[in-house]
Amino acid sequence: MIDAGTIERIYDAADIVDVVKEFVNLKKRGANYLGLCPFHNEKTPSFSVSHARGIYKCFGCGKGGNAVNFIMEHEHLTYYEALKYLAKKYHIEIIEKELTPEDIQHQNDRESLLVVTAYGQKVMADTLFNHPEGKTVGLSYFKERGFREEILHKFGLGYSPEKRDYFTQLALKDGYTMEFLEKSGLTIKKEDYIFDRFHSRVIFPIHALSGKVIGFGGRILRSDKTIAKYLNSPESEIYVKSKIVYGIYHARKAIEQADSCFLVEGYTDVLAMHQAGLENVVASSGTSLTPDQVRLIKRFTNNITVLYDGDSAGIKASLRGIDIILEEGMNVKVVLLPDGEDPDSYSKKVSNTELLEYIAKNERDFISFKTLLLLDESKNDPIRRASLITEVVKSIAIIPDAITRSEFIRECSTLLKTDERLLLSQIMKIRRERNARRFTPAGQEQEVIPAFRSQQQVFTPTDDIEFKEREIVRLLLTYGNLVLERSKDEVSGEQHETTVAERIIHDLTADELELLNPVYRQIFHEYRTQSEQQSIITEKYFIQHPDASVSKAAADLLTQAYTLSKIWEKNENYVETEEMLLKKIVPDTIHSYKHKKIIDLIEEAKVQLKEAYESQQEEKTRTLQERIKELNTFKQQLSKELNRPIP
Ligand SMILES: [Zn+2]
Repeated sequence: MIDAGTIERIYDAADIVDVVKEFVNLKKRGANYLGLCPFHNEKTPSFSVSHARGIYKCFGCGKGGNAVNFIMEHEHLTYYEALKYLAKKYHIEIIEKELTPEDIQHQNDRESLLVVTAYGQKVMADTLFNHPEGKTVGLSYFKERGFREEILHKFGLGYSPEKRDYFTQLALKDGYTMEFLEKSGLTIKKEDYIFDRFHSRVIFPIHALSGKVIGFGGRILRSDKTIAKYLNSPESEIYVKSKIVYGIYHARKAIEQADSCFLVEGYTDVLAMHQAGLENVVASSGTSLTPDQVRLIKRFTNNITVLYDGDSAGIKASLRGIDIILEEGMNVKVVLLPDGEDPDSYSKKVSNTELLEYIAKNERDFISFKTLLLLDESKNDPIRRASLITEVVKSIAIIPDAITRSEFIRECSTLLKTDERLLLSQIMKIRRERNARRFTPAGQEQEVIPAFRSQQQVFTPTDDIEFKEREIVRLLLTYGNLVLERSKDEVSGEQHETTVAERIIHDLTADELELLNPVYRQIFHEYRTQSEQQSIITEKYFIQHPDASVSKAAADLLTQAYTLSKIWEKNENYVETEEMLLKKIVPDTIHSYKHKKIIDLIEEAKVQLKEAYESQQEEKTRTLQERIKELNTFKQQLSKELNRPIP
């Protein structure tokens, strides 16, 4: 752990232009610096760095943040590692919190385990290539399956002989202790005997991102139905199944270069793809995909292509797993291999070019893949069709980006021949329920914030409540401290000033409105808390926020102003900036947000009313009718306050 004082010194020293310049060729353009974005492929620069604000922002791919975020993103480091990187660059001594004896023990345990697994890998690889049994059984198995030796070496494959304690005896003789042999899972100790977990198996070492061996997978070669075909190391201090994907170390560079990652099922699929020259490939290795695994891939690309076996009965079962990728905001494509083929067999059957061509031709986005798959199944059965729509809607609802969501809604409404508005309202309902579940402390009643759209309006992305929330928070961050209006107290004659922040906070708090987007909500709450304590809230507070999602959102919102200011440009001589128009923009934005909220609330109430009416709940029907009336009155008041139709 790095202490807070050091973190602050690092932030102060890390000049954003200086930090970025090391990787990007920057040219000064007005107040900012411009260059080619290092995070996506581009020919004309859209990567902008603001020296004054200490932030970067790409207007092409949307990436943005502070100097620490940049290093995290560019060098694929954790927050802690990025701080250390910058500390080194600026010669800042890191004062770490003192390690307790337990911490030290913990570190030593990890080290010892890594030493044992490295040794295990070396011995088993040596056995594969040099031991008589290794050669005749292990090596010939791999060769029969069409693997070349260079691939076996590259992935450090190995063999563990039939003699049950062959490896353990060797390890003990070489001075490794039983304690760590057991902890690493390589040796299993029973009361009166010990044996190698992986005996009689070919071995697939599992590498961490750093390239260190952290665990093993072993495949039995005998056809014995009573023994599991594949066996894995047990979890340990160094090996956590849910956090690693097989092949990531060997694929990381290729993933970054191709800006995409193939996801396959098994170890041999990864090896075969490498052998075919496609190196941007990882395997979930049998387990269902976890969010941590997806985030690991996301450090290198936003695009995942899942390769499915042609005859896989498991496709439907694994559809749910793909939702996890969508939830992380990644683009998911799917390729179905020809009947009876898996990536291993197919990549050996065709040439590298043919494989690439097949993938390019058969790649489809996951949502339409899922829709067509289920559509085919439900054919003319209306009940199954209804559940199909629910299934598809669920997947769309978890996509975090509103624009992507609306694109898929449009596509699916065409595929399903269903009204776009119906899909949208179902999706909004799911999202609302998810948000409510996520952010309500147990036992507390949650204010219901519906997100139904008005039936009369045509849907546009900006219609989404999240876009309105975004505008509010952007104004708060960008202009919060500026004076919005001055008034004179008629009795005392004192001048009173209201800032933009005061106005926004007052207006939202008065109506007890809570933002739906968790990051915007957090920014709003922290802003309010800070201003209640009379502190001046600087941009720095949010840009250097230790929570990366907050600092990135802040960088993103604060850079918006640069582009927006151009919109207000009237003619060459006179530029009207957004700042000059705040008196109009701030109240308009708040009103527009509230208006949208009310429309949503009314729509929500209408749906509830219909349900209550149909199930003959008279009491509830009456209450809801009252509520709708109230909301309509409020809506009218709101329009009147503004004295013109709300934009
Ligand atoms: Zn970019």
